Amino acid sequence: MSYHLAKLGREHIVLERGRIAERWRSERWDSLTFQFPNSMIRLPGYAYEGDEPQGFMHRDGVVRFIEEYARRIAPPIRCGIRVIGLDSSDTGSLVVETDHVSLEAVNVVIATGPYQVPSVPTFSTSLPSRTYQVTANRYTNPGQLPPGSVLVVGSGGSGCQIAEDLLLGGRGVYLSVGRHRRVPRRYRGEDFGWWQEKTGASDRTVDTLPPDWRAPLLTGVGGGQDVDLRRLAEHGVKLTGSLRDIRGSRLLFASDLEENLAQGDALFDQFMRSVDDYILKHGMETEPHQNSRATDRSPTTAATGELDIRSAGITSVIWATGYQYDFGWVKCLVLDTHGKPVHRRGVTAVPGVYFLGLPRLHKVKSAFLWGVGEDAAFLARHIASRT
Ligand SMILES: Cc1cc2nc3c(=O)[nH]c(=O)nc-3n(C[C@H](O)[C@H](O)[C@H](O)COP(=O)(O)OP(=O)(O)OC[C@H]3O[C@@H](n4cnc5c(N)ncnc54)[C@H](O)[C@@H]3O)c2cc1C
Repeated sequence: MSYHLAKLGREHIVLERGRIAERWRSERWDSLTFQFPNSMIRLPGYAYEGDEPQGFMHRDGVVRFIEEYARRIAPPIRCGIRVIGLDSSDTGSLVVETDHVSLEAVNVVIATGPYQVPSVPTFSTSLPSRTYQVTANRYTNPGQLPPGSVLVVGSGGSGCQIAEDLLLGGRGVYLSVGRHRRVPRRYRGEDFGWWQEKTGASDRTVDTLPPDWRAPLLTGVGGGQDVDLRRLAEHGVKLTGSLRDIRGSRLLFASDLEENLAQGDALFDQFMRSVDDYILKHGMETEPHQNSRATDRSPTTAATGELDIRSAGITSVIWATGYQYDFGWVKCLVLDTHGKPVHRRGVTAVPGVYFLGLPRLHKVKSAFLWGVGEDAAFLARHIASRT
C-alpha cells in the first residue's frame, strides 16, 4: 500500500504494533516454508532475485525478504504503535486512536492481516486440565509440547503441515480431518502455483467462486511435495473424522473421515482436469499426465468414533481450526453484525475507510504475498481520486 501511495505522491504513515513482518516472525512454526515457489515471492517493485526460482523459502528467508523490501521502498513506518480505535469525527475526518497518540486522517487502510486471531471451538474448555493446548499460530516445534502423543484438530494448510512436522519429530500423531482441498504440488511439469497463474485461476474474482471454495493444501517442506493424508497415515499418523465434542476424557468424532478424504480427492481430480482442459484448449506442449490420486490406499490406521484421551496417550492438542477477524477496535460503520468487514474490493461505505489483504478481498490471490499488490494499486488510485 505504501509503495503505491508513494508512487502517487500521497503523504501517509504506516503504523505497526510489532516489528516489520511480525506475524512471519512470531506466529509461524519453525519449519514452515513459503508455500509457493521462490519465483512467487514478490511484492510491488521487488521480487525474489536468487538462483533457485523453483525452490521453497524457509520462514526466516521470507522475513528477510520483507525486511529487504522495507529497506528498499523505505515506507514512513512507525513500529511499536498499536491502533486501538478508529472512528469518524463530526467534521468528517477519521480519528485513529493508538496506544501512544491520537491521529486524524483523511483515509485509513486497514491491513491488519488475513489471519488475525485463532478460532477455537468452545468445547476446547472441556479438555482435561492436564492436557496442553496450543493454537497453530503459537505452535513452534515438537519440543514445545510435553512428552506423549498429539492430537491436531483441523486439516487445513496449518493442521496438515503441523501433523507432518510432529511426525518427523518422532511424535505419535492423531489428525482430525475435516473438509479440505487436496492438490498436486506439481502437475505436468509445473508447480501448482505456476498453473494457478497460467490458467487464470488465481485471478478469479470473489463473485465467481463457489461458496465452499477453500485454499489448497500445500507444503514447501522437503523441496515441495503433495500434502497427502493417506501418505501421512501410512507413515503412522492416525486419521480421525471431525472432532465434534469433548466429554470428560472422551473425544467424540464424526464418522465423516471417508467422505472428507473422498471430497479432497474429487478436488484433486478437478484441478488436474482443469489443467488438462487448459492444455488442450491452448495446444500447449507439456509433460504427460503422471500423477496418481492413490485413492486405492485406504487409511488403515484411522481412529473412529470416540477416543479416550488418556488411553490414547494424548498429552497435547493443537487447534488448527482456522482464524477469525479481530476488528473490535473499528467503531465506524464498516462491519456487519458478526464483526466482518463489509466492502467491495476493499472500499467500504464510509468514505476514506478501506480494507486490504483479506482472504478473497477481490480475487483468489488477494491475501497472498504475490497477489496483494494489485488490490493495493487499486485502492491507492481510489484514494487519489477522492481529493
Ligand atoms: C501458516 C500460514 C502460512 C502462510 N503461508 C503463506 C505463503 O506461503 N504464501 C503467501 O503468499 N501467504 C501465506 N500466508 C498468508 C500470509 O499471511 C500473507 O502472505 C501475508 O503475510 C499477509 O500480509 P499482511 O501484511 O496482509 O498481514 P500480516 O502478515 O498478518 O500483517 C499484519 C500486521 O498488522 C499488525 N497489526 C495487527 N493489528 C494491529 C493494530 N491494531 N495496530 C497496529 N498493527 C497491527 C500485525 O502485527 C502484523 O504485523 C500464510 C499464512 C499463514 C497463517
